[in-house]
Amino acid sequence: MDPRARDLFARARRLVVKAGTRVLLDADGRLDLNSIRRLLEELAGLCAGGRQVIFVTSGAIGAGLAPLGFAARPTAIPELQAAAAVGQSLLMQAYNGFLAPLGYTVAQVLLTHEDLEDRHRYLHVRNALTALTGRRVLPVINENDAVSVEEIRTGDNDLLSAMVANLVGADALVLLSDVAALCTADPTRDPNARPIPVVEQVTPEIEAMAQGSTSGMGKGGMASKVRAAKAVTAAGGALFLTHGKRSTLTAVVEGRAEGTLFLPAPDPLNHRQRWIVHTLRPAGELVVDAGGARALRAGGKSLLAVGIVEVRGEFAVGDAVLIRDDAGAPVAQGLANYAAADVRTIRGRRTGEIAELLGVRTYDEVVHRDNLVLLQDAATKTRSP
Ligand code: GLU
Repeated sequence: MDPRARDLFARARRLVVKAGTRVLLDADGRLDLNSIRRLLEELAGLCAGGRQVIFVTSGAIGAGLAPLGFAARPTAIPELQAAAAVGQSLLMQAYNGFLAPLGYTVAQVLLTHEDLEDRHRYLHVRNALTALTGRRVLPVINENDAVSVEEIRTGDNDLLSAMVANLVGADALVLLSDVAALCTADPTRDPNARPIPVVEQVTPEIEAMAQGSTSGMGKGGMASKVRAAKAVTAAGGALFLTHGKRSTLTAVVEGRAEGTLFLPAPDPLNHRQRWIVHTLRPAGELVVDAGGARALRAGGKSLLAVGIVEVRGEFAVGDAVLIRDDAGAPVAQGLANYAAADVRTIRGRRTGEIAELLGVRTYDEVVHRDNLVLLQDAATKTRSP
């Protein structure tokens, strides 16, 4: 394993560890109590050693299927929600059972994407997690599957754990998965596929590699692991992907495990910027003309109405919008100062005309530079040192 992994984990004080369903359950969908016991003991050991650890668990839906009499995973959302409600409590029972003899207890936090999207709730979650640290508790997080319908879902726990890692400013996120590493090609189809031990930057080539891979079909597959890596590394954290049954967490933090290490960006986005780019989902899009795109890309400029040529979708004041150039390339993501209907009215017009067009001019900028993150920064701030 790369020596950088050893250094990185030796220094890491705050860790988020995510285990996938196939790590926590056996092939028949029952709790894999040996695997769970080992993992919980390792997590408690890390806490006892003075690290702050948050555990993101999957497996709720999987663990709830058999007790409800499902032979296979249902497709109806209410049935999945029912399974999650049952399975989540079975997981917590098992986790508390293994932690109690070690003097630890579980603090369960179930989140939906809405909780992370709303800035106030996001900060409340962060405060709650902060209050749990330094005590003999292991915060355990999962998506609140019993209440999550599609619109409010994070989607999968790779992304949820990346958001949590960024929320608490983790030094590293460890994904314990059913795949051992990111490979140069899909190892199930290409005999020449080789594992990639270190990714210095999540480039479009790395993203393309992950897209093509069908292996490791947890909920999100490799593509969501690479998306998680992109979000975490851009925020200055590292991500380590490894096989959750073949390697141990202890081997990971000692820098001995096989896997893929995604290195942190040397010049990361700040907290608010990464929330805007990596947590919020754009509610609409603004297409800007060549001059507008140039001004934004040069940096430090707000988006004015005059540069906007098209408004797509419906968004309200304060919603996230994706800004594209007229060739369709993404330029930036930011928070809108005006709702979509108003931007349609003022697009292409000078700032001085806004009051007359709308009857009121609340802001000079459609997206203020303080609320705007260039997507080239979000990506290239993962460049190698
Ligand atoms: N939240 C889901 C569960 O606990 C897992 C989602 C995932 O594996 O990404 O069943």
